Amino acid sequence: NAKSMGGNTVSYYSSDLDKRIKDKMRLEQKLRVALDKRLLEVYIQPIYDAATREMIKGEALVRWMDPEEGFISPEVFVSLAEESGLIYDLGSLVLEKVCAYLHEHEGKLHLLGMRTIAVNLSARQFFASQLVTYIEATFKQYQIDPKQIEFELTESMVMDDVDQAIDIMRAIRNLGCSLSIDDFGTGYSSLSYLKQFPINTLKIDRSFIKDIPEDKNDVEIAYTIIAMAHNLGLTVVAEGVETKEQWQLLRDKNCDYLQGYYFARPMPMSDVLMLDNVINLLGDGSR
Ligand code: C2E
Ligand code: MG
Ligand code: MG
Ligand code: MG
Repeated sequence: NAKSMGGNTVSYYSSDLDKRIKDKMRLEQKLRVALDKRLLEVYIQPIYDAATREMIKGEALVRWMDPEEGFISPEVFVSLAEESGLIYDLGSLVLEKVCAYLHEHEGKLHLLGMRTIAVNLSARQFFASQLVTYIEATFKQYQIDPKQIEFELTESMVMDDVDQAIDIMRAIRNLGCSLSIDDFGTGYSSLSYLKQFPINTLKIDRSFIKDIPEDKNDVEIAYTIIAMAHNLGLTVVAEGVETKEQWQLLRDKNCDYLQGYYFARPMPMSDVLMLDNVINLLGDGSR
């Protein structure tokens, strides 16, 4: 135990901490270089209409493949970027790649039914004073109809400063973009705020989806979120749908849209262009 190890304990722990700090700084430096060289990629995960199985939109998800480390999860490097301020470069890389893609493939994407691509915003990006001006300028540069972009926010970032957040949300909506609340149910937003938010969509967090239909509490939670969203005039997306049972249950509970490995994984942008507009699921029991 710690006591019997005496003085060594301190040096053990401090060198361990040292290593973690060094690893983090090394990763941050690599991320800086990767962003400078624009080596990060944007994948897209299609989102489908639960009832008709038609593709209706997509979510842009950033990907970073480091030659030495391999694929690094966005859970790791997005928060690192947020802490270090690199998130602005990361965010603009993602928005610019999405806009360039929409500009180049608008016709094909329209045929596929993918009329909107959702882009995640982190807290620092969202509260940055130049955000709305930057978004508008980027749309002009790529000649993008703002209707083609949706921004995903999380409850917790919005709750950091509700009044300012509502102002920014209004400004984004005024551009013509839509807004969704991502990972819904995991934050601490109060329902009295929710009704004031100028949003279009709630995305039910995967943690409530992954154990249905077995977990009856989660079934009830998902059902309640769907009903509440509809009562507020919002559409609902379920995230992380991995099974046929989940799809059918959510469809029967009138969940509008579904996203998850059961339908499609996030994929390179060029792969999206080769998909069918209606997903063909064997023995799907559709009506
Ligand atoms: P998110 O916005 O909630 O994105 C959904 C995550 O769920 C993605 O993870 C996606 O790959 C994963 N997912 C989708 N369907 C399934 C499924 O059926 N099963 C399972 N197990 N997972 C599924 P990913 O790509 O690793 O991204 C993780 C998080 O990183 C995102 O969560 C988002 O918060 C953040 N992120 C990703 N790209 C960006 C970005 O461009 N900007 C910012 N600010 N954050 C990003
Ligand atoms: Mg998201
Ligand atoms: Mg999510
Ligand atoms: Mg998430």
